[in-house]
Amino acid sequence: MYSFSGGYTVGMQERERIRKVLQMIVCPVCHGRLTLEENSVRCTACGRSYPIEDGIPVLLEARASRPECN
Ligand SMILES: [Zn+2]
Repeated sequence: MYSFSGGYTVGMQERERIRKVLQMIVCPVCHGRLTLEENSVRCTACGRSYPIEDGIPVLLEARASRPECN
């Protein structure tokens, strides 16, 4: 089904699964709501983007990329 040799892309079924998960969890930094982006999860409150690795959102502040400004 999936190739793990190259770059990982989030499949359709995984997107649906992640979307459901995001309804139950919040941003670890500001507890804001999370939304699913192309290949990452973004906080709608503070704007941080969290990577998705192997279909699992990595909700760690250390791994988050912050917006340049607001
Ligand atoms: Zn946040």
